Amino acid sequence: MPSLRILALGGAFVALSAAAQQYPAKSITMLVPYAAAGPTDTVGRLVARSMSRSLGQTVAVENKPSVGGILAPEQVKNSKPDGYTILIHHVGMATAPTLYRQLRFDPLTDFDYIGLINDAPMTLIARPGLPAKDLKEFLAYVKAHKGKVTYANAGIGAASHLCGMLFMSAIKTDFITVPYKGTGPAMKDLLAGQVDFMCDQVTNTTAQIKGGKVKVYGVTSLTRMPSLPDIPTLNEQGLKGFEVGIWHGLYGPKGMPRPVLDRLVAALQASVKDEELKKQFAEVGASAYPADKATPAALQAHLKAEIDRWGPLIKKACAYTDLPEVISCR
Ligand code: ASP
Repeated sequence: MPSLRILALGGAFVALSAAAQQYPAKSITMLVPYAAAGPTDTVGRLVARSMSRSLGQTVAVENKPSVGGILAPEQVKNSKPDGYTILIHHVGMATAPTLYRQLRFDPLTDFDYIGLINDAPMTLIARPGLPAKDLKEFLAYVKAHKGKVTYANAGIGAASHLCGMLFMSAIKTDFITVPYKGTGPAMKDLLAGQVDFMCDQVTNTTAQIKGGKVKVYGVTSLTRMPSLPDIPTLNEQGLKGFEVGIWHGLYGPKGMPRPVLDRLVAALQASVKDEELKKQFAEVGASAYPADKATPAALQAHLKAEIDRWGPLIKKACAYTDLPEVISCR
């Protein structure tokens, strides 16, 4: 005769799989690791709206901003793996392991992968009143004000930090870094003239560039962007090989039931094919990955490849960058 314990366990399993079959039965929370009105927030909100349509439930975006975007992944890692808490994050999932001495999550073991969402290049921009009108003049300005020019970023491990670090190392000139909990608030201070310059995704800078609200010195893709054809690349202006592309992926806590994960993957795949979302992405210079990349295997492989790719480059740039003690270039 089966013991009561086995019967109880069996009952719990049946209840769990019934819940997984009915998923999603309520709204889903998507954590954004940076402040509102920044690029990760913008991409998160667009994809959440699109996924809500195919899931038949609201995907609600919740900002959990922290410098470097390292708190939201920890929170998702510790949440119930039932599919009701998911995470959007960018290349920071691949740069943080090299930069942080103690990271309270492991991007390679603590998550279930849903898939890749989009990528977008970055732009080097400055406060409207900064006198330099092109990259050449800007480099002269930074060198003339060595150690005094301020650079806004979203904290160590953020895309804007990565770009700034590579830029500092490329021009071998110090500047002061000013960390924010996202480049949304950083942009506000840049527009107000409180910080000098920033490197941020086109998803956050396109409108300001097109509106003539900021100075722009180049894009970080190797070739010019169709959406900003008049902006030269940093590569073509003498910073040979300077290339930073930022991608976003979707994650859940490790151990989500298979039907739940399958449902999320299907919804993400529907979103990357969604013409409305593609149009919205194109308006801000981002491109959705093809559906065959919006898969757990593709995100896992890309993340691993990006950790391997950025690790040595960060270590090289670290040799030039002054990082606080909590950080190591391992
Ligand atoms: N894109 C920003 C960064 O990593 C963060 C954000 O989305 O606000 O620099």
